[in-house]
Amino acid sequence: MSLESLTSLVTQRQFARRAEKFLPSLWAEVGDLFERHPGPIFFGNGAPAPELMPIARLQEAASRVWAEAGTRLGYTEAAGYAPLRVLIAERMAGQGMRTIPDEIMVTNGSQQGIDLIARLMLDPGDMVIVEGPTYLGAIQAFDAYEAEYLVIPMDEEGIELNALERAIAGAMRLPKLLYTIPTFQNPTGRTQSRERREGLLAIARRHGILVVEDDPYGELRVSGTPEPNLRALDPGVVYLGTFSKTIAPGLRVGWTAAPADLIGPLVSAREAADVHGERTTSRIVHQIAGGSLDDHLVIARAGYRRRRNTMLAALHTAMPEGVRWQEPEGGFFLWLELPEHLDAEALLPLAATHGVTYMPGGWFFPDRRSCSAARLSYSSIGEDRIEEGIQRLGAAISEALGQKP
Ligand code: PMP
Repeated sequence: MSLESLTSLVTQRQFARRAEKFLPSLWAEVGDLFERHPGPIFFGNGAPAPELMPIARLQEAASRVWAEAGTRLGYTEAAGYAPLRVLIAERMAGQGMRTIPDEIMVTNGSQQGIDLIARLMLDPGDMVIVEGPTYLGAIQAFDAYEAEYLVIPMDEEGIELNALERAIAGAMRLPKLLYTIPTFQNPTGRTQSRERREGLLAIARRHGILVVEDDPYGELRVSGTPEPNLRALDPGVVYLGTFSKTIAPGLRVGWTAAPADLIGPLVSAREAADVHGERTTSRIVHQIAGGSLDDHLVIARAGYRRRRNTMLAALHTAMPEGVRWQEPEGGFFLWLELPEHLDAEALLPLAATHGVTYMPGGWFFPDRRSCSAARLSYSSIGEDRIEEGIQRLGAAISEALGQKP
């Protein structure tokens, strides 16, 4: 829907003022992109590969769960299935994050966690600190509560601390939240160094800003050594986890781990949206997470490692001079930086004529700015298609730069 027709719908239907900010549906836009350019290799999909989802294990677990369904399909369990909360607490403890089940609420994906924190914390005009670029879905959630943003630039080691200090000092109001994806960030694939993590927490503590650590990809490390989670360094951090990337996004099972005094208000905020979560899929996930998940993750990591390596090797041979990228150590994404005078969104139609599309970097900023970078996802595409797609992209960029491919 065009911005003009959206604006007129908002007026005609007397929608709230904020609707104009969050109504353009990202997924409708991505769908449009497909429709306009059918058939190309699409590097935009941030989902796991279907062949790396444990479907047979899910089927088995589902039939066991349904055999026992009985009378438990009524209301309750507003904070989620208790045994799953215990298991999540144990898994987090295994990763150095001391957490008890009372600090955990199971959510409808981690996206709901972002929404509920925003719902609980943000009055219109409140400031949220985000990395620039950041996760699109978080921008959508914060926009719905009429947040204002402090967008902090990143380098190879993540959020820049001097810029963070300066932005807070120069802000009209003290920001309320600092939302960050420190590990295998969406969209850049970057991981914050330990020094940055400690620095970020120190700054947030000094100003009394609540830190939200979004960590959907942390368990999908394929090289390098892990950095401690922010929540491992500071139990006051709100941590968002999910089974969307480790099992499957369609299950919609994630969680929020927060200081215990925040869980009650978050559960109340959630009741206003959906009373409580479902009571069947979380039991299926509990069976997998308590059983074969670690075995599955070994297979999944090997698959993502192969895909990442294929993309890196293809980039080395296909990209013209002046294009840069950083090797992600895990997760699903790689951030491709084109020469600065190229706008990745403006390049899309040409790329599509070469048979390849991607997510332009500008989409990952709250102000949708012009940006010369693109997010390339390697998670859901087979290796031969990755190779072919990168060759096509290299040819498109070369053409835009006026070079022979
Ligand atoms: N946060 C980030 C950084 C993500 O990349 C995603 C999914 N793309 C989410 C949250 C939402 O995931 P979920 O399916 O758990 O809602």
